Amino acid sequence: MKIAELHVYSHSLPVKNGPYRMANAMVWSLETTLVKLVTDTGLIGWGETCPVGPTYQPHHARGAIAALTEMGQGLIGAEALTPLTLRRRMDGLLNGHRYAKAAIDIAAHDLMGKAYGVRVADLLGGAVTERVPSYYATGVGEPDEIARITAEKVAEGYPRLQVKIGGRPVEQDIETLRKVWERIGGKGIRLAADGNRGLPTRDALRLSLECAQIPLIMEQPTNSIEEIAAIRAQVRHPIYLDEAGEDLATVIRVAGQGLVDGFGMKVTRIGGLQPMAVFRDICEARALPHTCDDAWGGDIIAAACTHIGATVQPRLMEGVWLAQPYIDGHYDPQNGVRIENGHIALPTGPGLGVVPDESLFGAPILSFN
Ligand SMILES: [Mg+2]
Repeated sequence: MKIAELHVYSHSLPVKNGPYRMANAMVWSLETTLVKLVTDTGLIGWGETCPVGPTYQPHHARGAIAALTEMGQGLIGAEALTPLTLRRRMDGLLNGHRYAKAAIDIAAHDLMGKAYGVRVADLLGGAVTERVPSYYATGVGEPDEIARITAEKVAEGYPRLQVKIGGRPVEQDIETLRKVWERIGGKGIRLAADGNRGLPTRDALRLSLECAQIPLIMEQPTNSIEEIAAIRAQVRHPIYLDEAGEDLATVIRVAGQGLVDGFGMKVTRIGGLQPMAVFRDICEARALPHTCDDAWGGDIIAAACTHIGATVQPRLMEGVWLAQPYIDGHYDPQNGVRIENGHIALPTGPGLGVVPDESLFGAPILSFN
């Protein structure tokens, strides 16, 4: 089965009750890029990639479109149901730009599932749960307000919470984490403090020492792996790598050197579901917990994250974060991916199990055939 058509759509996702605030950025609306692959037998597969603005990572919406423009024609006639050879073909057309290639990889997995009549989770090794845990991420905010939100989310059933920190005096972050733990401590909730690369090592150290009694993990507190290595021996908390975990080679290096205790991982950053499954297996080999997220995006990316998340060994599963609570509506009103009671039901249909109403996306901005 070969790729006969490739269509690219651009779609705006306004942030509900925006903006969403992180250490280095505030976002009001995100441009998502959707890919529709059509095979020579008429089967359709969907993929998506949606950077959370142009400064979160070295990814941006217009970069994804440029990369797809570069690769599009060269993918026509490629085998559609073999993501590994498809990835190598993409690498032969364009260096890097894994976050754009991920949209093609996800669409290929959707096609495979539909062609074989199985779910993407089964293609990825098999689901260990039908109810995938999520986690809620607060923005950077006032201590009392963030504490109130976290208590509310615990009551909703989230097993894990992430509090964004950074981009302000560290005293405010320390106060926030203390107030949060006063409200949610002792309830069996796992807590992450996510600096989104925003803390100097000085502040990360101080925060860890002053919050030593709070059993949190520090997610990407500082900008670089070198900065994490510099404070690694002095902090009192486990450290997870997120943004700087750019590719599998980096994951192997930091896991092998014992520089981190786990990962926040984004399906599009690492290049799609095929490399994400390799990442999952590396983590399992070293007993490193991790998330299965993406930076932003609608039902397609949400389904992709949920399918890979369903295959992770439960003791290592830190949850699937979705942008869904910040987005109005769904691409697929019936099977749209939703967080309910802090968990996500694994879609049941073949492939990703989400069939978007493509009239929402308007005319394609790029088409190849
Ligand atoms: Mg993070």
